[in-house]
Amino acid sequence: MTIIREHPSCFTVVGLSAHRSEEKLLEQAAQWPHAVCTLSGKAPESERISYSGEAGLVQMIEEVDADIVINGIAGAKGLMPSVAALRSGKDLALANKETIVMAGPLVTSLADREGRKILPVDSEHSALFFLTHKMHDLSIEELLLTASGGAFRDLSYQDLAHVTYRDALKHPTWKMGRKITIDSASLANKGLEVIEAHHLFSMPAHKIKVVIHPQSCIHSLVRTADSSLYAQISKPDMKVPIQNALSFPEVIASEYGKLDLAGQTLSFEQVDEKKYPMLPLAYTAIRGNNTLPIVYNAANEIAAEAFLEDAIGFLDIARLVEATLEGEWDNLVSSFEQVLDIDSRARTKATHILETRIKR
Ligand code: MG
Repeated sequence: MTIIREHPSCFTVVGLSAHRSEEKLLEQAAQWPHAVCTLSGKAPESERISYSGEAGLVQMIEEVDADIVINGIAGAKGLMPSVAALRSGKDLALANKETIVMAGPLVTSLADREGRKILPVDSEHSALFFLTHKMHDLSIEELLLTASGGAFRDLSYQDLAHVTYRDALKHPTWKMGRKITIDSASLANKGLEVIEAHHLFSMPAHKIKVVIHPQSCIHSLVRTADSSLYAQISKPDMKVPIQNALSFPEVIASEYGKLDLAGQTLSFEQVDEKKYPMLPLAYTAIRGNNTLPIVYNAANEIAAEAFLEDAIGFLDIARLVEATLEGEWDNLVSSFEQVLDIDSRARTKATHILETRIKR
């Protein structure tokens, strides 16, 4: 909203939706849109068009005339709104990583068919998008995603057995929702981002690397064939990738990300895969068939929720995801209906394992 208020000649809002923050939405809606979608269907003034619930959201995206839809929904529920945006001829500014994790090939080919763009809003993918876009004629060898290391970066593997969700919610650099903060502490968030980068940039898994960078100023890097590294560097402020997605291919002036390098220390560490098993599990999911990323994501959502309810320990998150990935997941997916079906089967399996083998 800050970006739109500061650039009124560039942007306006025609529709808004919210899940939990209904009151805030209604405040914002008073300023702009003619369409709102809330869980309850409440609208601030009678002449506004109001929609409610998940089906209402898809309908609003399809019916409202807009150039671009920003999808910042958390979790698997973000998939169908993304599909609705592309199907109704809108560009998609994507902060919902599950859209690509669950249905990357289907979503990117839908965008190609409709002639629409997918503009990543996740800070790492935004960085990679702009770097690869600007360097398209250079031979790109590797993508490097940076990770803050989350709330438990300085703890040992042994310490992780005793941490709670309250400890995880104290994230060092980014202020985010509860689930993504847990994902950040377990590196499941980075695992999802590796899968996302694999699809968005058509890069094989072994050419996507993760490096811990506690200051979160370098958002990602690309390595070219001559072994040079090119980085996107700005303050850790989500307004930078959001504005860049909205203004693409133009770059508009702003101060949000301006970083004074003097006095900064930027450091890097290798990821300890024993401490962060959710990261190697994501690579396992990419190397399997296109069903496994859906299972990885669904099981992780169940695990993160159980951890947030104090029902399991932190190390159980990866145990539950690993156990859910095992066994019969051999069918390839070729439609969004199949994606949702696998998602639901994976949730059932993960919940069963949680109840019978893991829950304390
Ligand atoms: Mg990110």
